[in-house]
Amino acid sequence: MSGELHRMGVAALTAALRERKVSAVEVARHHLDRIARHPDIGAFVAIDEEVTLAEARAADARISDRNAPALAGLPIAHKDIFVTKGFPTTAGSRMLAGYRSPFDATVVRRLADAGAVTLGKLSCDEFAMGSGNENVAVPALGSDKPVPVRNPWDASRIPGGSSGGSAAAVAAGLVPGATGTDTGGSIRQPASFCGVTGIKPTYGRASRYGMVAFASSLDQAGPLARSAEDCALLLSAMCGPDPDRDSTSLDVPAEDFARGLGASLKGLRIGVPREFLGDGVAPGVRAAVDAALAEYEKLGARRVEISLPRTELSIPVYYVLAAAEASSNLSRFDGVKFGHRASHYRDLADMYAKTREEGFGDEVKRRIMIGTYVLSHGYYDAYYLQAQKVRRMIAVDFRQAFAQCDLIAGPAAPTVAWKIGEHGNDPVADYLADIFTLPASLAGLPGMSVPAGFDNGLPVGLQLIGNYLDEGRLLNAAHGFQQATDWHLRLPEGA
Ligand code: GLN
Repeated sequence: MSGELHRMGVAALTAALRERKVSAVEVARHHLDRIARHPDIGAFVAIDEEVTLAEARAADARISDRNAPALAGLPIAHKDIFVTKGFPTTAGSRMLAGYRSPFDATVVRRLADAGAVTLGKLSCDEFAMGSGNENVAVPALGSDKPVPVRNPWDASRIPGGSSGGSAAAVAAGLVPGATGTDTGGSIRQPASFCGVTGIKPTYGRASRYGMVAFASSLDQAGPLARSAEDCALLLSAMCGPDPDRDSTSLDVPAEDFARGLGASLKGLRIGVPREFLGDGVAPGVRAAVDAALAEYEKLGARRVEISLPRTELSIPVYYVLAAAEASSNLSRFDGVKFGHRASHYRDLADMYAKTREEGFGDEVKRRIMIGTYVLSHGYYDAYYLQAQKVRRMIAVDFRQAFAQCDLIAGPAAPTVAWKIGEHGNDPVADYLADIFTLPASLAGLPGMSVPAGFDNGLPVGLQLIGNYLDEGRLLNAAHGFQQATDWHLRLPEGA
């Protein structure tokens, strides 16, 4: 069996582990071996064989005890934005190089409690700011300098971002499932670009405790895996209230999302926002999305045309608000409390300035400057407050849309993955590519990306957006599609 372990996915692998067809140690070793043989992708930034194998042995003991939890022995890896006790946490930044957290993020802890075995930490854009995993300031395994993560479908292209390491690792068969975070699309867009399935739950479903903060009113954790069923299993373990540690975590009990899978899609009203299929969408992407919608109609769903009139505004609104929150959140990196401190300085102010100058990369500095500007006296009303108002209107647009439909569908991104370096020094080119993921983020709605075909050999993701707390319906719709199609089963060479 060991030759195919990395192709089994979460559902099949956990079943095989439970039936003791394979041990957690064997599964862990198999994946560690694959990770060691694929440094070319640049997906992993930290592994620790001893920690992993100790966790695997503990999982084997739990399995033989017969009271094994749901994910006992399942290898997973975490985006390097979740603090983890056994591994370093850098958030992709020089600022946190060498940092080790004394505690686990709630999501990390919940997965560990469910029996998952940690393989290591995955590359991401610095502080999760980016759309291509090119803004990385820490070296990947097997390399002595920072490298962009490569897309397993085409090594000259980005995997998407900021959870690019997570998406690439799943696509390349280095890990059956991974955690990611989505502030403005960072689970859905890389899932789309790498041909894997990813879901961002409703804001507040998963605790943000121990997630290095970027924009707190938007940040949300979620899984990336091969299929909707695999995501359902991981998400069930990740979610649930965390009232003592995250005051925005919702008081909604964890659900068993896998249990509801398989329900008929007959009569499901799928809203397609006209703004999501306009001229800015690459023809190959539009064709794949149209074909996916036709497939849904075959499954009994009904296509309803809807409008999300403020889709375009979500870009300026998001890049004002996310930057504002980032500028505040990142003020904690001052050379005193965490991570890097400049070695030469004249006085306290100089120490702050040099530490931040040395520790942060260009994109992070850009966000801090934009954020500080839009929050400053005199500009606050014109930018920050205005953006908050439009954010509310975007949420109202969704509310009206959900009066006409049960789910919303469209592309996750206007194009497939672009070439590494293609956007050069033009950050706005990255920002514009977020247009279809930002609206759901601003409204706090759950969204996912489901493999739905290819454009010139590169994966296209269908984005599904659900109403608040409607992850069950979302996952069921994705599962139904995956039962009828095989896009999610296609693998890049070598995976
Ligand atoms: N691309 C967006 C940004 O750079 C979204 C990032 C995210 O979701 N973490 O801010």
